[in-house]
Amino acid sequence: GTALDAAFFVGWMTAAAAAIDREAERLTELDSAIGDADHGTNMQRGFAAVVKVVETEPPATPGAVLTTAGRQLISSVGGASGPLYGTLLRRTGKTLGDAAQVSAEELRAGLRAGVEAVGQLGGSAPGDKTMLDALVPAVEALAASFEAAAAAAEEGARSTVPMLAKKGRASYLGERSIGHQDPGATSSALLFAALAEVAK
Ligand code: ADP
Ligand code: MG
Ligand code: MG
Repeated sequence: GTALDAAFFVGWMTAAAAAIDREAERLTELDSAIGDADHGTNMQRGFAAVVKVVETEPPATPGAVLTTAGRQLISSVGGASGPLYGTLLRRTGKTLGDAAQVSAEELRAGLRAGVEAVGQLGGSAPGDKTMLDALVPAVEALAASFEAAAAAAEEGARSTVPMLAKKGRASYLGERSIGHQDPGATSSALLFAALAEVAK
């Protein structure tokens, strides 16, 4: 299979930041319906910080790129999504260890550990109308291909529309959270779209 090196992961973070920039208004709009209208700006601030660090001081290994990125998200994003995405990337990076290159299957195992850590931190599970509704199916589908993972994340994000939010700010709305797509699930789909893009 493909060997993914540190440069691939820097490319992933850069592509993710660009996708978030393109979709920032939409993310904030989704968050204005069921949250506090800051998800786009939170993600932009976080990923701008990530790109700045990984491009000026490129970490030597895939694991180090992701742990560095996760740390930046935790320190630069005030909202719930900062610690959650920060934990996702940090735990994934730690699971990859200090290998100079990783396989797609190793990345999938790392991401699975990362997604589990998000659920632990958030006390959340698929069906709660959160980022996990995109992340969990994406990691499953990564067994097939990067494109399948991106498609599964997108479908997972759309699947949050009829859900009742059980975690995060959207849960304060109760029934009124129904009928809106979760902002965090939408940004998770962007992360997997960026991954598929760099893997091409
Ligand atoms: P905040 O809600 O603090 O303003 P953001 O708007 O940046 O933070 O992020 C909101 C997103 O975070 C939600 O759309 C949801 O996907 C995700 N989220 C919030 N709480 C949880 C949780 N407990 N578990 C998983 N994801 C969560
Ligand atoms: Mg918000
Ligand atoms: Mg907020």
